[in-house]
Amino acid sequence: LPSINSKKSKEYNVWLIFTKVTNVSTLSYKFRDLLHNLLNVSSVPLKFNIIVDKVSQTIAENQITEVLLYGRKSLVYSFYDIEDCAKKIQDIVEVMTPHFSSKPGTYYSDALFYISLGLYRIAPLNQHYAILLDCDLYFKKDISLLFDEFAKFKSSALFGLAPELTPVYRHILHAYKSKHNTTFGEFYHDGGNSSNQSHPNGFQGYNTGVVLINLGAQRKSLEFPKVVSNESVQAMTTKYRFRGHLGDQDFYTLMGYEYPHLIQTLHCGFNRQLCTWWRDHGYSGIFSDYFKCSHDVIVLHGNCNTRIPKR
Ligand code: UDP
Ligand code: MN
Repeated sequence: LPSINSKKSKEYNVWLIFTKVTNVSTLSYKFRDLLHNLLNVSSVPLKFNIIVDKVSQTIAENQITEVLLYGRKSLVYSFYDIEDCAKKIQDIVEVMTPHFSSKPGTYYSDALFYISLGLYRIAPLNQHYAILLDCDLYFKKDISLLFDEFAKFKSSALFGLAPELTPVYRHILHAYKSKHNTTFGEFYHDGGNSSNQSHPNGFQGYNTGVVLINLGAQRKSLEFPKVVSNESVQAMTTKYRFRGHLGDQDFYTLMGYEYPHLIQTLHCGFNRQLCTWWRDHGYSGIFSDYFKCSHDVIVLHGNCNTRIPKR
């Protein structure tokens, strides 16, 4: 019989979202560069799963052709239609958007920001593990290091996420923090001793540029459907007076407060964000405490359109 480990090690499912793209969008170059980068840096056979609309699929096919001409490698991939995906997660999206979307958009533009939460319904049943990646990433090291993290998951974890590296959740929690003594929203630091709660050393929240998903465990979970229910989301947003605009990562951050057993925290080197917007918007004094990352960098994340230094 194959051991659990060998089963794990045979699956290298990478998921990408590539929608609302035009021939001139920078997203199309980010997508091409990331595919090229992943083919170069991976020691394992990746399976790409790409969520697209019709126009974006054509652009993706052209970019894949370019990568293959240039790189002389092969690439295993499938496309998934965003409208089909949106239908499958409609209930989750309806619960989340009032709290975590900046403005209600068109039919599928909302769904785009919550795919990670419902990917277990979209992915084929023979996929047990998946990594959902933003397109604005650059891998400095082998992506197999990221897949290796699944083996380190605590048994209750459904997701693996690295910290958000700005004070955005300190900002959002302002009202709650003015009345409660909590490490939530504080930057990560050594020597915390409030051992009666989770995240004693500060908790910056999570960033969703890199999301590890234990699809098999999520499909079996009796708890997860309750956590994404309207009652649960209402209760959490009310308790923390939380109004966000960053989609699924706002929800994961709340999960980190109330259901920390469901999330495995990855170190910051697995999603080293580069956006410095908050430094210039009221947080210059403490920005660097949030932004610092002392771990080895495996993945750079050029979020908020930040240019990625590639050597
Ligand atoms: N995305 C997309 N179409 C869009 C905008 C975003 O498909 O019009 C996808 C794409 O995979 C992108 C991800 O959503 O990487 C998140 O957006 P982005 O990385 O720009 O957000 P940031 O990391 O800057 O918050
Ligand atoms: Mn990004």
